[in-house]
Amino acid sequence: MIENSTIKIAVASGKGGTGKTLVSTNLFWAVQNAGIPITLVDCDAEEPNVAEFISGEILNNYPVSQKIPVIDTDTCVFCGKCFNYCNYNAIVYLPANHFIQVVEDLCHDCGACTVACKFGAITEKEKHLGTVQSMCMNSHAELIEARADVGIYSPVPVIKRAINSVNDQYLSIFDSPPGISCPFIATVENADFVVLVTEPTPFGLNDLKLSAETLQQLKKPFGVIVNRAGLGNREVYDWLIANKVPLLMEIPFDREIARIYSEGHLLVEEKPAYQLQFIELLKTIEKLVKR
Ligand code: SF4
Ligand code: SF4
Repeated sequence: MIENSTIKIAVASGKGGTGKTLVSTNLFWAVQNAGIPITLVDCDAEEPNVAEFISGEILNNYPVSQKIPVIDTDTCVFCGKCFNYCNYNAIVYLPANHFIQVVEDLCHDCGACTVACKFGAITEKEKHLGTVQSMCMNSHAELIEARADVGIYSPVPVIKRAINSVNDQYLSIFDSPPGISCPFIATVENADFVVLVTEPTPFGLNDLKLSAETLQQLKKPFGVIVNRAGLGNREVYDWLIANKVPLLMEIPFDREIARIYSEGHLLVEEKPAYQLQFIELLKTIEKLVKR
């Protein structure tokens, strides 16, 4: 452990199904098993599944909502000030037609329009976006799940609330949403280090390059775990060497591992040799973060 410090690790992948949750749940289990304080945050808010592998006593479950402005067109004088104050193009304003409306999906809850309106035409309503639930596994291990409501425009506010609810444990792991869009960025921007999980196939390499480019733009240090090693070809390994990206770990292409995962079990419990491998993974990341 790095003394007097905390480490936040995001586990991500360019697409779903590459083994991201396999890595985050087993790393979590191995670390808590070693007595190290840890929190695992399931940031895949549109499809959280970490609780299928790890459970605990529910400590709390609270709603996440945002304020949405509501414009009373009878009071509005169509001065356009709120429209000019909105940096997110969330207000449709057609003064010639006496039409003004908030586009709820674009609203970022910044409150600028409400402040701008000097005619008392704007009130606010609450819009439910999802929930954040925390579960206690034992005295030093906690699981936090972000769960967005079906059909909401963006899960980002729910993900941010889940990440902000982490206590200062030594280690936090963020199980990131797949892809490289806003939910991924909202997750990795809070991390000290990102673990990208890929598979050694042309598709895996393509997604790895896209994820790596995004992380380089964000100036986030990262390393790679190759899952299903032995499948496909050597192109991913060649790319890692050429780009000086650390290979953190390999998990072999193995029917037994696939069975353990598909039955909702943990590799570190069923194959104890992996306990040591995941602790070694943490030590490798600690060294890379300390650099
Ligand atoms: S709260 Fe902010 S983002 Fe939403 S409509 Fe008003 S100014 Fe635009
Ligand atoms: S600032 Fe108020 S009065 Fe002016 S257009 Fe917006 S809602 Fe209407």
